[in-house]
Amino acid sequence: MFKRILVANRGEIALRIIRACHELNIETVAVYSIADRDAEHVRCADHAICIGESAPSKSYLNASVIISAAELVGADAIHPGYGFLAENALFAEMCEASGFHFIGPKPESISLMGDKISAIKALKPFGIEPVPGSSDFDSDKSLAQCADAIGYPVLIKSAFAGGGRGMRIVTSAKELPQAMKEAELEAEHACQNRTVYVEKYLESPRHIEFQVLSDAFGNVLILGERDCSIQRRYQKIIEEAPALNLPDDQLKTLHGKITKALQSLSYIGAGTLEFLYQDGHFYFIEMNTRLQVEHPVTEEIFDVDIVKEQINIASGHTLSIINPKQNGHAIECRIVAEDPVKGIPSPGVITQLRLPGGPGVRIESDLYQGQMVSPYYDPMICKIVVHAKTRDDAIKRMQCALSHLLIEGISTNREALIDIIQQSWYKNLKSTTHSLNLHFKAAKDVISS
Ligand code: ADP
Repeated sequence: MFKRILVANRGEIALRIIRACHELNIETVAVYSIADRDAEHVRCADHAICIGESAPSKSYLNASVIISAAELVGADAIHPGYGFLAENALFAEMCEASGFHFIGPKPESISLMGDKISAIKALKPFGIEPVPGSSDFDSDKSLAQCADAIGYPVLIKSAFAGGGRGMRIVTSAKELPQAMKEAELEAEHACQNRTVYVEKYLESPRHIEFQVLSDAFGNVLILGERDCSIQRRYQKIIEEAPALNLPDDQLKTLHGKITKALQSLSYIGAGTLEFLYQDGHFYFIEMNTRLQVEHPVTEEIFDVDIVKEQINIASGHTLSIINPKQNGHAIECRIVAEDPVKGIPSPGVITQLRLPGGPGVRIESDLYQGQMVSPYYDPMICKIVVHAKTRDDAIKRMQCALSHLLIEGISTNREALIDIIQQSWYKNLKSTTHSLNLHFKAAKDVISS
């Protein structure tokens, strides 16, 4: 087992990883930017190294400086968390070449899945079907032919960018050239690569994803499904497990296909296969080769620690979990520092803070009173995760937790979350990825009428 792990991340996820390491008696090394010098992850780690200026490109995204920090402190492994360098195959390669274990899949797996077009092509032979679409076009004309063949509306998507960037819904052929230009520009800006592809735009899907863990000995474990349909601007804000109202036989078949695919592709580590589910069909959209923000809901219902398993697998051991039993229902709400009306980030100093607690309430956050919520980083500042016997009990528990939460000094989406979980369509399992757009549009119409 490793002796010292460097955590190449910040915020709640750095803290989450540090805690798991300490439970495994592994020393931790935090890295931090100037803006984060007083951060909780720095205080909780055994060692801490400043890696540069506040802008991510000058610190958390600077692979060479992070590798140098690992050399300086004599770490034997690097955990990338999520975001930043977590899905950067070159970074994973640099870690291994410099003698550090990268706690994540092999660089080849990261490259294969990091390009959504190659991920789709890699999984198709195993019967894992994507949304009908195409990446085989080279001029406006053939793009128009592809879109015609798919049938409008279509969605132009970036092959490499995440977070909904580079996506454009197109409802007719005449909108296509302009939408294509915009999508390519946005994709290039987000990830220096303008490759896009086109898919049928599904009008009422659920986002269903499968958590997987595979070791180097060919053992593949699927830790059930999460429903992440509650999204705003293609970004998840409420997630839950298990995903209810899905046909058992279809799930069983898909589990078999996923297991076969991951074994054949020699996938090692944690990962998530994301699907859209509509009209009784699962359509694969992408695979994330890292720890997912919403991993705690799976941990709660299976009583497992996915981060410890990642460390276990990276250090060359077999999976320590066999056939875990599922129990109860878990929901996660992402608290985001944002102006609820304008939907833009709301950085500032936390002047008052009260975090909820009690049975079945888990807080993943590095917030403290007096903290400056920096404009440099992702505005998600806290995850509230609840676990209860039934979904109804979990919703009730989340309602209490959200109403006990007090954050002053900045604006957050707390009220919006309370509003959503009280809606009858949410309670009655009628949510789709478009529910929030419809709901917020309706709310706006009421305000402006
Ligand atoms: P990203 O990597 O940017 O998160 P994804 O491919 O994972 O992109 O998709 C993010 C979200 O965008 C999905 O959860 C879904 O809400 C929406 N989406 C993606 N593809 C489609 C599609 N073909 N039809 C409708 N919505 C889609």
